[in-house]
Amino acid sequence: RFCYVNGRYLPHANGMVHIEDRGYQLADGIYEVVPIYHGKLVDMEQHLDRLAYSLGELRIAPPMERNALRLVMRELIARNGVTNGLIYLQVTRGVAPREHKFPKKTKSSLVMTTKKTKPVAPELLEKGAAIITQRDLRWLRRDIKSIGLLPNVLAKQAASEQGAFEAWLVDDAGYITEGSSTNAWIVKAGPDGKARELITRPLGHDILGGITRRGVVDLAKEQGLNLVQRPFSLEEALSAAEAFQTSSSAFVLPVTSIDGKAIGDGKPGPMTMRLREIYCRYAEQGE
Ligand code: PLP
Repeated sequence: RFCYVNGRYLPHANGMVHIEDRGYQLADGIYEVVPIYHGKLVDMEQHLDRLAYSLGELRIAPPMERNALRLVMRELIARNGVTNGLIYLQVTRGVAPREHKFPKKTKSSLVMTTKKTKPVAPELLEKGAAIITQRDLRWLRRDIKSIGLLPNVLAKQAASEQGAFEAWLVDDAGYITEGSSTNAWIVKAGPDGKARELITRPLGHDILGGITRRGVVDLAKEQGLNLVQRPFSLEEALSAAEAFQTSSSAFVLPVTSIDGKAIGDGKPGPMTMRLREIYCRYAEQGE
């Protein structure tokens, strides 16, 4: 198994960066995770757009041109024989003596690793995921895919310790922002009590613009579903008919309990499972 470190393909065990890499010392860097599904990269261009956006917002120089980046990604995936999994890219501001302000002369660091993954366990899909809620302790620029992930780490650990799959984060006004590594969605009866509404928080600085979220938004519109992008509270989520989350690692995943309380009838909902099926079909058309 290989990794890529600043221009070289190395055995994974030998993949190292310097102790004065600003990513290591200051979390001064960003990352991307691109799913590989049936041998294809899903929404690669959108992931590369988001990578460029994160770099731009932090004024970190792109480590290489986009074409070169694509080539390295494909080469690493081929060397590692990944047909289902993820490729992880990390860019930091580079290596320099430790100081908060930007160093004058430094080259950004680029590393990549891949991971093979198994399909989501059928049991998880049948039962749906249990999630807990945690206070959202993150900074105010969650739209940047920063490697500074301590609040996310602590939230996921809390979920794990309580036997849950994910933690959804609640802002100080009582609204769900997103999961620790997923975007959060609910489905509820519309104002007329009939057509079901699909609800997710709008894009902005307070959530990461998930690539899977965007895919589901587009597909929902195509399907003529009643999509509403607005914040929703924890109370609303608890009384929703369905809930689910989206991410590159598990696509559309049903959520059937929040803080131990069943959502709807406690089973994965029909709109959730329909969106999951449609999204999986869409993912198969990667590059
Ligand atoms: N929100 C957060 C905080 C994340 O870390 C992630 C992905 O890791 C997502 C949402 C989902 O984004 P994507 O669909 O691009 O994987």
